[in-house]
Amino acid sequence: MSIVNNIKSILAEIPEGVVLVAVSKTKPKEALLEAYEAGQRVFGENKVQEMVGKWELLPKDIEWHMIGHLQRNKVKYMAEFVSLIHGVDSLKLLIEIDKQAQKYGRVIPCLLQMHIAEEDTKFGLDEQELNELIASDEFQTMENIKVVGLMGMATFTSDEVQIRKEFAHLKSIFENLKQKLPGISILSMGMSGDYQLAIEEGSTMVRIGSSIFGSRNYS
Ligand SMILES: *Cc1c(COP(=O)(O)O)cnc(C)c1O
Repeated sequence: MSIVNNIKSILAEIPEGVVLVAVSKTKPKEALLEAYEAGQRVFGENKVQEMVGKWELLPKDIEWHMIGHLQRNKVKYMAEFVSLIHGVDSLKLLIEIDKQAQKYGRVIPCLLQMHIAEEDTKFGLDEQELNELIASDEFQTMENIKVVGLMGMATFTSDEVQIRKEFAHLKSIFENLKQKLPGISILSMGMSGDYQLAIEEGSTMVRIGSSIFGSRNYS
């Protein structure tokens, strides 16, 4: 299968209104261009340097999403252009994004990452931390970030019941949060192995890498 055909078959399968983020981490710019020529405009990367390098080389109408765990000292390198930051898991990080966005006169859309998996290796907030964050004075006063939704990753398991339960849990947190933040609209959940389940449980944005570009080689 080619990259173009992979994108076409995924787009044919996902409902209208669910956004496809093509996760292009580790892949060369030629692979991204192939996807671009098929009409794909939203790309996800998990390393800031790699994303900046690709942003410099590739067409300027690409929307770049930072999907990885983010260190505060890296925010400044992408504040000029990043379209959506998925993995925001602390107030300190949000404050740094706000500060860097201000330098460019931008409002940077962000998703708060929730910890929904069983593994304690995955990043994210629990519900109490989420509530504390959005109730804080700092959160109320920041003008250069906009929280537009939530992101989460399910446990890496073949147990569909477990995965579905975790996605349904995130969806319920999302619906509750809407009461307090009516502006939120994005629920980023689902990857190559579990995006169908995620969509059934209410995902509005799927992050798909290997089913588009093939498996990754990290060596
Ligand atoms: C790598 C990555 C993906 C895509 O994973 P695939 O299994 O290749 O689709 C999605 N989300 C995050 C946060 C990732 O790091």
